[in-house]
Amino acid sequence: MKKAEIKKLEKALKHQPRLVWDALKPDQRPELDERARDYKAFLDAAKTEREAVREITARAEKAGFKPLDSDGRSGRRVYAAFMDKVMVLAVTGRRPSSEGLRLIVSHIDAPRLDLKPRPLYEDVNLAFLKTHYYGGIKKYQWMSRPLALHGRVVKADGRMVDVVVGEDRDDPVLTISDLLPHLAGKVQGDKKVSEAFPGEKLNLVVGSLPLGDEEVKERFKLAILDLMHRRWGLIEEDLISAEFEVVPAGPARDVGLDGALIGAYGQDDRMCAYTSLAAILALKDPEYTCVALYVDKEETGSDGATGARSRYLESFLADLMAARGETPSSAALRQTLIETRAISADVNGALDPDYQEVHEKYNAARLGYGPCVSKYTGSRGKYGASDASAEYMGWLRGVFNRNDIVWQSGLMGKVDEGGGGTVAMFLAQYGMQIVDCGPSVLNVHSPFEISSKADLYMTVRAYQAFYRA
Ligand code: MN
Ligand code: MN
Repeated sequence: MKKAEIKKLEKALKHQPRLVWDALKPDQRPELDERARDYKAFLDAAKTEREAVREITARAEKAGFKPLDSDGRSGRRVYAAFMDKVMVLAVTGRRPSSEGLRLIVSHIDAPRLDLKPRPLYEDVNLAFLKTHYYGGIKKYQWMSRPLALHGRVVKADGRMVDVVVGEDRDDPVLTISDLLPHLAGKVQGDKKVSEAFPGEKLNLVVGSLPLGDEEVKERFKLAILDLMHRRWGLIEEDLISAEFEVVPAGPARDVGLDGALIGAYGQDDRMCAYTSLAAILALKDPEYTCVALYVDKEETGSDGATGARSRYLESFLADLMAARGETPSSAALRQTLIETRAISADVNGALDPDYQEVHEKYNAARLGYGPCVSKYTGSRGKYGASDASAEYMGWLRGVFNRNDIVWQSGLMGKVDEGGGGTVAMFLAQYGMQIVDCGPSVLNVHSPFEISSKADLYMTVRAYQAFYRA
């Protein structure tokens, strides 16, 4: 065979994932940069699930979405929030609901530290707040760094107080002190990492000023209570009916001298929340009814009323169908859900250059190669996997290819190494077609996750193509 023929054969037969930067046309660059700027603003405004619901609502209203009203007066672009922690947006299509939806689901919770219901105590002349970490974190990453407090307190009379401290430049921050290396040899250094940092030591320094003289009992704790009372009208018992989330302080940043990456807290999974939001906000007059669902509690197993195992989607759909003049019988709901095509939009762990040994490099997602389609998640014998069908994979691949989307196939980790679950399996229970598809991210679950602006841009385009398919 001649060299030219071999080249031709190679091009025709070999699957060659593309780097988004190579595929990008020069006139797409301004849009990519604007997308990155807007994404960072979204991340800064949405550091908790409640803040994400508020930010998504504001953006939806700006784009002409109305609260869903089952009497049908809200029009074709509607939204609904549930418990301030779940959000759904829908644009109704030309076809009836019974022909199925185009659904993208992402999660708006992220690993963090939650305050315990009775958090405040003092020790060695410092006041502290006790925490319980939420989701899978490497505990040492949360020590010795500035942290911010975001919370909602509900008083016994129902009044609500929202608190944010540590985000403004002039705000104080909280922090968890770590032991000096000089004395850390036995209690940390000689232990396994998983045992060296007990959860009960993740206590936040919250004060060091005493109230009154030495005769006052617990005067450092009392000083903080006094401060919280003067500033927010709170008493200690109010903390029992509160949700305080401790997150890394400060804004999202560009990373690298070329600024082509984004470093920020909570990109798992607000990168998918943002990209699916951008896709649905731009949508006009789709063929099928398009839905963006934002759930909570993914990081702790999707349990609870606001997790993906909750049946809230059914309630929303019933209202949506009623608003369209369709009868939302349970049979009609089941029919709609079974005909639905869905994307479980969650980030994937990108191939880590320093730890390539935990990945299987032929099937690992790479930063910058566009959104990653994972036929299945799970590990060690595909346990806990929602395995998308070849039929559905074929359909989605066709959609992306026809729309010139740069995408990749990728799985998380080696077969025996572990991996992550997503919400796909909980929606698959309805019998819908669903597959995981989201950008890959480095440093996942750390206080500073790293994504590629190229993937951000391409993921919005991929979700747009999916909604229009
Ligand atoms: Mn996730
Ligand atoms: Mn996660």
